[in-house]
Amino acid sequence: MSDLERSTLERRLLDRVRATVNEHALLRDGDRVMACLSGGKDSWGLVHLLERLRRQGSPRFELIVVHLDQRQPGYDGAPLVAYLRQSGLRFEILSEDTYAEVRAKTPPGAAPCAKCSSLRRGILYTAAERLGATVLALGHHREDTLETFLLNVIFTGRLQAMPAGYVTDDGRFRVIRPLVTCAEEELARFAALEGFPIIPCTLCGARADSKRDAVGRLLEQLEALNPRVRESMLAALGNVRPTHLLDGDVARAWEARPASVPAKSSPSDRPRRFTALPVLQSDWP
Ligand code: SF4
Repeated sequence: MSDLERSTLERRLLDRVRATVNEHALLRDGDRVMACLSGGKDSWGLVHLLERLRRQGSPRFELIVVHLDQRQPGYDGAPLVAYLRQSGLRFEILSEDTYAEVRAKTPPGAAPCAKCSSLRRGILYTAAERLGATVLALGHHREDTLETFLLNVIFTGRLQAMPAGYVTDDGRFRVIRPLVTCAEEELARFAALEGFPIIPCTLCGARADSKRDAVGRLLEQLEALNPRVRESMLAALGNVRPTHLLDGDVARAWEARPASVPAKSSPSDRPRRFTALPVLQSDWP
């Protein structure tokens, strides 16, 4: 049963990844992709599914897995290295004491994550350059996307989620998120079935992001209203009606779109012909 469940789940996740890669043209022939493996369930799923995609040969790309040991207390990377060794994947382990630096530079009571992420990003970008990578792959999934969307709408007044792919400001790399439509709970189940050696994300002892937690709970509450709310919200992010927003720049850009981009309309936009006869009229001048 477990093996059937594992292969069914793998197929479903892989279908989603392939659809995202195709829809957003995330990968090209000749790419060298560096998959960032934190050791959490999502990044393991990313590595596994990208490797499956690579073996299918279209597009033809190289994959290298990079893991950064940030010297968190209690860190044990041995099972991760053993798993990578037996997998046959090309990999590299980096080590840098960002933990000490983050602790030293974070004022008491402040959240350390922004500083930590920026250090990690800098280290990974430098490694990507050294390895000749053209693409960095990250393991953000559906729930990350929806929570980011809600955080932006509720707290910053921006209609913005997470892009499936973008080019870094300095133009050095494309950053891709092939799991962006994959459900977190499916990735967690898949990680358990595969027996990935998980490195817990709580080693640093940082407090959880309370706002992100709150919007996570909000999503759970919305599920009581519509059990498929997550899929509906995800579909909405891929089904934008620029004419029905309040951003003038977006409306003008939409108006000036090339003829190859069709208008978006739904049956409810088309006025129906009902007739009501006038029963009272004022005098016309
Ligand atoms: S939770 Fe810890 S390891 Fe993760 S970004 Fe925050 S400080 Fe860094």
